[in-house]
Amino acid sequence: MNRVAFISGEVLKEAQPPHKCPRRAEGAVFVQSEFDEWREMPNGDLTCSYCGSWETQQFLNWCETATEGTLEFVKGYKFYIRRDGVSNAGDGAIKFYTPHLTREEGNANQAMINKAMKRLAWDRDIE
Ligand SMILES: [Zn+2]
Repeated sequence: MNRVAFISGEVLKEAQPPHKCPRRAEGAVFVQSEFDEWREMPNGDLTCSYCGSWETQQFLNWCETATEGTLEFVKGYKFYIRRDGVSNAGDGAIKFYTPHLTREEGNANQAMINKAMKRLAWDRDIE
């Protein structure tokens, strides 16, 4: 699959309609609105207004192209992401929740994400 290396948050935000966060199905209701939106963070990342997850296409683009940063898959449904310039969730995306992947997106990108995890592995020697 060919993708542009970088899609700005503004372009992506305009291209996407409001969505309903898949994590709403887990029960807890944090935000009382019918639809959720992609918030543009100071660094251009888009994050889900309901769960804080990084927007899927931006996350996949980063996995495909990143040579620096760290990525760890934990609890079977979430990735934690560390990048220079993003010290907390107020700066940009720090996590990706896999419920935001459709089954098709998951199947199409699993090998690429696995490669990214090997390339950008969390530094376990710190602990
Ligand atoms: Zn969400």
